Amino acid sequence: MEDINFEFDDDLKKRAQKIIEQEPKLDHIKLDKVCFTKIDKTLKGGHILGRCVLLGVRTEFLSGKRFMIEMPPVYYELNEKQKDIVMEHELMHISKNNKRLVEHNIGEFKIIVEKYGLDWFEAFKKGELLLAKKKLKEAENKYKKVED
Ligand SMILES: [Zn+2]
Repeated sequence: MEDINFEFDDDLKKRAQKIIEQEPKLDHIKLDKVCFTKIDKTLKGGHILGRCVLLGVRTEFLSGKRFMIEMPPVYYELNEKQKDIVMEHELMHISKNNKRLVEHNIGEFKIIVEKYGLDWFEAFKKGELLLAKKKLKEAENKYKKVED
């Protein structure tokens, strides 16, 4: 049993909304199916900066939500661009039919790799926070180029 405190975070939802509007490959996402929360727990492993969780059918029955995107304290230390990249990554976990989680090894993640490179995420997977932050900085620069 995980011990986590959750807080709704509407700013996360606004950020997600903005990203979906800018990225046609995410326009299948039904935001009303997604709950956005700030959590007080430090995450380990692949998603130390944030994670997308598939909720159960009973939770969906009760709440109308199928996914929860949870951001840990370290996410809030990132700058705006970095937050965008992490959010876009988490949104990529939502399948085309808004029913299941997409794993990283599926082509649907290709766009993230094309845009920012994969090495920043590889560092997260290893749980190397300092390296991940350095790599995310590089990804951020690529992100700026995409925008220009
Ligand atoms: Zn992921």
